[in-house]
Amino acid sequence: MKSDPSTKIFDLLQFGEFGDVNPSVCDSATFTFMQAKTMLDTFHGDAEGCFLYSRHWNPSNKYLADALAAMEGTESAWVTASGMAAITCSILQICSSGDHIVCSLTTYGGTFAFLFNYVRKFNIDVTFVDITNLDLVEQAIRPNTKMIYTESMTNPLLQISDIPALAAISGRHNLKLVVDNTFTPMIIAPFQLGADVVVYSMTKFINGKNDCVAGAICASREFINSLSDVNSGTAMLLGPALDPLRSSSILKNIHTLHIRMIQHSKNALYLAEKFSEAGVAINYPGLPKHKGYKTMKKMMDPQFGFGGLIAIDMVTAERAARLMEIMEKAGVGYLAVSLGYFKTLFSNSGKSTSSEVPEEIQREMGLSEGLIRFSVGLDSDIENTWQKIKGCLEQL
Ligand code: PLP
Repeated sequence: MKSDPSTKIFDLLQFGEFGDVNPSVCDSATFTFMQAKTMLDTFHGDAEGCFLYSRHWNPSNKYLADALAAMEGTESAWVTASGMAAITCSILQICSSGDHIVCSLTTYGGTFAFLFNYVRKFNIDVTFVDITNLDLVEQAIRPNTKMIYTESMTNPLLQISDIPALAAISGRHNLKLVVDNTFTPMIIAPFQLGADVVVYSMTKFINGKNDCVAGAICASREFINSLSDVNSGTAMLLGPALDPLRSSSILKNIHTLHIRMIQHSKNALYLAEKFSEAGVAINYPGLPKHKGYKTMKKMMDPQFGFGGLIAIDMVTAERAARLMEIMEKAGVGYLAVSLGYFKTLFSNSGKSTSSEVPEEIQREMGLSEGLIRFSVGLDSDIENTWQKIKGCLEQL
């Protein structure tokens, strides 16, 4: 069962005259032991509750990881220094040389580059498919396939992965289903829907402040223990542990995530409807005409809406660039990559966060060169924002 992350945090606090409302920040790289044997037991993973060294585990990281596990309904979680660290460590923990991965063709550009270019040096093969075509997914599976990798809502095309159906395929072929849920925290709970591992870029909605990069891996205790194993754990050995000072600041921001997601979704739906009425080509999974609308409805927690990402098509990169520059001057938001910030951010995906994807593959996946992805902010007067955008469209 998933539970409210803040309830979990509540259980961890110490009450009393000097009880702090936020867990104390652990500002140490190493930890003391009173008995040498306990240290050895900790190295072997046999001393529950002991901390050894902060690249392995740290109390502040554990508070945040426990809150994330409560949010996802997983037994455990591990926090990383970036979303890419969460993704690459999970993949390399599951796959070895000679293995094969089936991956959504549309994924965040960094993930695409890792799977398209980088894992080749480990002799890991990847087949990219349209993840919404379940027949293609199943046909791509080979005897050496180890994993299906996708994003709940893909970046930047906002396709919706049918997680229960992908979990059924994974189950039939004894594969691991790894899902990046960066776009839809609280809205979609991939582990509850059958995924084995859920990864996040916490840089985005979870932290929501754009003041750091961070990531998370939520999964079974067995998987998280294997990642942090001192002899063979990818996270322990590659070392992308999150700084505990950052963990404690992200933990405070998680307390407002549910309210932020509601407001991001409400504003995104409002703008999507206005763009649609204005005859602008708009992509938003919350519009009934979206191909993934029904799949998303089946999986989502409706109180949090359809998420804060929308995409419009300006057809050419030049028109997209011009509109973004006008919108920035008009105060609609910032021309910047990333998402999940309290201000609206927009960028031309083909020339920014998906520029790692070769142009012919961009065309194959249906990524228009004029696509502008908006991460809609927490604006209190979204009609006013729409009026500004309308004025900008008129200037084009
Ligand atoms: N996953 C998705 C869906 C993303 O959009 C991003 C970054 O934009 C990442 C992962 C990578 O996260 P980070 O930049 O925190 O490494």
